[in-house]
Amino acid sequence: MAYDSNNIFAKILRGEIPCDKVYESDHSLAFKDINPQAPVHTLVIPKGAYVSFDDFSEKASDAEVLDYIRTIGVVAREAGVAEDGYRILANIGQNGFQEVPHLHVHIFGGQHLGRMIKPFDKS
Ligand code: 5GP
Repeated sequence: MAYDSNNIFAKILRGEIPCDKVYESDHSLAFKDINPQAPVHTLVIPKGAYVSFDDFSEKASDAEVLDYIRTIGVVAREAGVAEDGYRILANIGQNGFQEVPHLHVHIFGGQHLGRMIKPFDKS
């Protein structure tokens, strides 16, 4: 999928719409989800124009990849969820139900999160 520079996170990165920023590094930005699904629900995005995790892992520089992975850990620790545990999730594409076509990892925490996903129907 080609990157759409009009997606909402691209607009946040350009400063065209506001966000509740929690952390920023050279190559990554973290902000609170506008519709939180847990007491802690933070989104971490790379600043570069990448649609998905596979797009990012193929095209991003080593510095960007390193920065992104480290940022996810920093944000989890600073949100205070590292000790009790948390979940990171990236929805990708149509089957992954990705709504915003700019790579983002959700960090959920602050409560027991239950099972990962519902069992699928094997029949
Ligand atoms: P996805 O379904 O693509 O994995 O998740 C997109 C997430 O972006 C959703 O959890 C949604 O609440 C969040 N979101 C959508 N628009 C905005 C926005 O303008 N600001 C912020 N902070 N979050 C947004």
